[in-house]
Amino acid sequence: MIEYAQTNGFNISVTTNGSLLNKEKARFLVDIGVNALYFSINAGSSETYMKITGRRQSGLFVKVKDNVKTLALLQKEKKRNYPRLMLSFVISSQNYFEIKSMIHFAVESGVNRVNFVPVSSYFDSYSFLDLSPEDKKLLQKDIYQAKLLADQHDLMHNINELIQWVNMKKSGNINDVYLKMSCYVGWFLSLVLANGEVIPCCHCMKTMGNIHERSFREIWNSPVYRKFRKESKNFALRSKSLSNCQCSKCNLIPTNLIFHKILHPLRPIPMGGEELMGRLKGKVGTFLSE
Ligand code: SF4
Repeated sequence: MIEYAQTNGFNISVTTNGSLLNKEKARFLVDIGVNALYFSINAGSSETYMKITGRRQSGLFVKVKDNVKTLALLQKEKKRNYPRLMLSFVISSQNYFEIKSMIHFAVESGVNRVNFVPVSSYFDSYSFLDLSPEDKKLLQKDIYQAKLLADQHDLMHNINELIQWVNMKKSGNINDVYLKMSCYVGWFLSLVLANGEVIPCCHCMKTMGNIHERSFREIWNSPVYRKFRKESKNFALRSKSLSNCQCSKCNLIPTNLIFHKILHPLRPIPMGGEELMGRLKGKVGTFLSE
């Protein structure tokens, strides 16, 4: 499949938990020039990894780290810029306290970037994963140190946007954010469900069409998708078209903030905690070895 997509000019990104990666597969991925590999890790320690994944092998966390490292080394050996290697961490009540260990994992395994995604419980039965106000306070304590650690090691990250998310969640209604900023999801994401339905984001169960009935291109350019984009862009003027969306639980704020920054460099949204950040920079050496 990868070879077929590659020879037909597609950009290919692969998302994996990295547990089945071996030298042979790593070599194939590097040689064929896959554009990006996303490793979904979601933990900073073996204990949390076992708890989150439900897998009982105590050595698996270390094995995954070694697998990522092997790939990064192979890439260096072959002097290739691709695939871009990224670690992805969904931050929830089960792992937020390990954010610094996650950065250490990334530095030690030699990846290019880390990406943090705040958890968002679409169903009430998973609301235990949401961060409590107490969790957020504790995360705030560590998050600035995590950012400095990442910067110190030239690791690319989206921690600034995560900081904004934490501060915004703390300060109240998430919808208030979208009074200052548009939602750009209609341009950068599209999900195709197992039954062929296309939805614009995982919190919008609003069908844009079905790929068993029309091509994806037709759906992407359809009036209903265009209407969705127009309305989500003018989020402040919310319309009924977004009534199926759980925007009050949006976890794509960090990504939307990146787009906002690029499109409106003169209209920044304050990150919060700038003063604390300044103070921490002064004592960066004290915790880099933690
Ligand atoms: S949940 Fe709402 S605000 Fe968030 S990405 Fe989806 S449409 Fe945009």
